[in-house]
Amino acid sequence: MKTLVIFGTRPEAIKLFPVVRALREQPGLAVRTCVTAQHRGLLDQVLAIAGLVPDVDLDLMEPGQTLDRLTARLLTGIGEVLDKERPDRVVVQGDTATAMCGALAAYYRKIPVAHVEAGLRSGDIYHPWPEEVNRRIVAPIADLHFAPTQTAADALARENIRTGVHVTGNTVIDALHWTRSRIEADRSLAAQLDDIAARFAGKRIVLVTTHRRENFGDGMAAIARAIARIGAREDVAVLFPMHPNPNVASVMDDVLGQRANVARIEPLDYPHFIRALGLCDLALTDSGGVQEEAPALGKPVLVMRDTTERPEGVTAGTAKLIGADEDRIVSEVFTLLDDKAAHAAMARAHNPFGDGHASERIARIIADEVG
Ligand code: UDP
Repeated sequence: MKTLVIFGTRPEAIKLFPVVRALREQPGLAVRTCVTAQHRGLLDQVLAIAGLVPDVDLDLMEPGQTLDRLTARLLTGIGEVLDKERPDRVVVQGDTATAMCGALAAYYRKIPVAHVEAGLRSGDIYHPWPEEVNRRIVAPIADLHFAPTQTAADALARENIRTGVHVTGNTVIDALHWTRSRIEADRSLAAQLDDIAARFAGKRIVLVTTHRRENFGDGMAAIARAIARIGAREDVAVLFPMHPNPNVASVMDDVLGQRANVARIEPLDYPHFIRALGLCDLALTDSGGVQEEAPALGKPVLVMRDTTERPEGVTAGTAKLIGADEDRIVSEVFTLLDDKAAHAAMARAHNPFGDGHASERIARIIADEVG
């Protein structure tokens, strides 16, 4: 049986490389990979670390790409790949335009689709936008739904999707475990990563990432002003690997400029990022993946959004939704920095998102089809 795994962005690559590895260990499966490179640079960083060489690379990213043009190009591009590759099954992940178009192009050819990280719902089609609708479009098409948690499986059940649903854990925890063991095993990699620790020795580190479309504009400006106020504290260093999207960079340039205690740096490769997460006092983010990784490392995570499709961290008390309001961001960060009890309450290593074996489960279920 031939399985084609399709992905295009950094988070998809992080969450799918363990799946590709696990699928390749299954006898009777021919595993091919297709990248759309919807986010070229960030995707390539992960491919390099994971040692993954895609079989097909559509290289579709364009400067200033609009959602409709990207969607059209993804749909036709992936369609042509499917006609050539003729897989028996397609695997997509999450909620990107690539996942949505991969599923749709497969459906047009009646090729079954497996959805990794199925069932995440915020309940609001504009938060996150357009991801909430992307993942809802994949759901009725897929015949295998790999829900990371029971909460996600329950969300699918509410949409009457009950067959082919498997609670597997989130593969991001597999990627995290794999990467941490690589850092431990590779002394030179570990030494490189220690540069970060040396640079910020003696400071409390606030790790920041932001890139959500719905925060572009006013939200991003408020986030920038909040970062400036947090970085004004002498005891704090803000470590800010900045997403290359111009909607992030231009606002940060205008509002934040250069500041001594704010290290605006290039996006970190995955091992460096995981190391930085391990070193920080807290994470301040609007990212999905970081909401899953931080609790697994016992790091409090403040989520600069009003809703989340990952309520497990909030329920466990390791994540808090704080929106993109300047004063609220500053006061929540200062509370965690100054109130030991508040920090300790959120800093419990907790793995609501998986046990690190999700990919094996997924690969076995897909291979079971072959018999
Ligand atoms: N990440 C990374 N380097 C960075 C920032 C983030 O490798 O400089 C990783 C992070 O560990 C997480 C993923 O990228 O696994 C999250 O990607 P992003 O925030 O772009 O997307 P989302 O998870 O919100 O879909």
